[in-house]
Amino acid sequence: MNKTDKIMDIAAKRGFFYPSAEIYGSKAGFWTYGHLGTRIKHKWQNLWREFFLGLNNNFFEVEDCNILPKQVFVGSGHLENFNDPLTECNKCHFRFRADDLIEDALDINAEGIDEEAMTKLIEDNMLLCPKCQSKLLPVRMFNMMFDLKVGATGDDVMYLRPETAQAPFLAFKREFNALRKKIPMGLAVIGKAFRNEISPRQGFFRLREFSQAELQIFFDADKINEAEDWNSVKDYKLRLFTVKDRKTKKIQEVSCKDANTKLKIPKFYVYHLAKVQQFYLDALKVQKENFRFRELDAKERAFYNKIHFDVELNLETLKGFKEVAGVHYRTNHDLGGHQKCSKENLEVFVDEKRFVPHVLELSFGVDRNVWALLDIFYKEEKERALFTFPQNVAPIDVAVFPLVKKDNLPEKAQEIFKDLTKSFKTFYDESGSVGKRYRRQDEIGTIYCVTVDHDTLDKNTVTIRDRDSMKQIKVDVKELVNVLNKLICCELKFEKAGSLIK
Ligand code: ATP
Repeated sequence: MNKTDKIMDIAAKRGFFYPSAEIYGSKAGFWTYGHLGTRIKHKWQNLWREFFLGLNNNFFEVEDCNILPKQVFVGSGHLENFNDPLTECNKCHFRFRADDLIEDALDINAEGIDEEAMTKLIEDNMLLCPKCQSKLLPVRMFNMMFDLKVGATGDDVMYLRPETAQAPFLAFKREFNALRKKIPMGLAVIGKAFRNEISPRQGFFRLREFSQAELQIFFDADKINEAEDWNSVKDYKLRLFTVKDRKTKKIQEVSCKDANTKLKIPKFYVYHLAKVQQFYLDALKVQKENFRFRELDAKERAFYNKIHFDVELNLETLKGFKEVAGVHYRTNHDLGGHQKCSKENLEVFVDEKRFVPHVLELSFGVDRNVWALLDIFYKEEKERALFTFPQNVAPIDVAVFPLVKKDNLPEKAQEIFKDLTKSFKTFYDESGSVGKRYRRQDEIGTIYCVTVDHDTLDKNTVTIRDRDSMKQIKVDVKELVNVLNKLICCELKFEKAGSLIK
């Protein structure tokens, strides 16, 4: 089995995720989060919230409907422009995403190439249907939004939102007034988005129903070269892969100061790049070699994005750097479009000026980030497979076992388990040998296992086993919560937390 299959196997068997409606055969691009996956997802989202809403005391979260009126997507431009290139087999009528097909066959980047040029590439290189080897029809554009007929007559067409970002634009006027008319103002949404992807391959990475965590920061375009907290990041090194670096294929480490003065990226944008990078390297403990910002050129990025860097992580399962988030300078495209379409005035009056605010968007795909965590933290050792998740995303903190299922050990273990559940996400297991129970917990990334044995009854001590080193220490039950707390907060070294069992 390759690494993807191994992770998929653990994911389905242990309860991270599995295909939605599996008992009916399931549909590509739809997945169910199991009990462990839901925990990781929620922990990742909470970390994101804490980190990004903590950047400014004028950043808040809002929540909107998944189903929105057609006019919203006229205003945003999605109805006209939210398309992917599609080609169809002339014989079996299977449909493919033309850019993916070309990229796979010719090993080139097909992002931003128009339909005619793609058709020509297919013809010139005699690319055929990968399923039945027949001819492919000319490439055409396919709108990826799901439409719905709403109401009893079905006359009212509405759409499932293809991105969460529209919610802050629609809420902008009310929130700006409610929040005392100040900018920068940030409005975040964590919620579902829906895209009718033509070929949702790459397993859990390209979905038709997925979650996004997006922060729209409304600001004054005249102040784009200002950042309040600039001094704290000016010497911080960003890992950039700009359009120019594509020739050498090398990632540059550039200080924020140089990104601003030499690469001419505005301070407001650079500051937020630094924060996004810190989220991955410091909060999620991603190794810096596995992180980069990839710049998109004018052809590749959406027409309204003036500056666009994708966040890419190096994922072994996907054979290289893949997009998990994006930092988009969307200008005043969205508010401007909604103002025009709704006839509602969306200007603000700040600093003696009247203007439509510009927007910097930090846009993250939650599910892709969850997959990335599984890829990055999966390890194999001689006799075990494990996830070395950091505590802030590990689904279970502590597992509790009785050594054997007799001699009152299960009762004592239950007592300790109940006590620990007040402070930690805890799992109780008494089935199978202790060795097997350790392996099962390693396989889901549980950080510590506490074993209750005969010493617990005689001397009131338990054994704590560390997931990563497999070392074990003896600790007094009275001290257990305190010790685990300190270990989890990294305030104590494992070997120093109790008496080491040699
Ligand atoms: P891609 O180029 O991979 O199709 P995108 O550039 O269209 O993605 P955005 O519209 O910028 O993506 O969406 C922001 C984030 O949402 C992406 O960085 C990604 O993490 C996530 N995302 C987008 N489409 C999907 C999808 N079909 N399934 C899962 N996550 C997605």
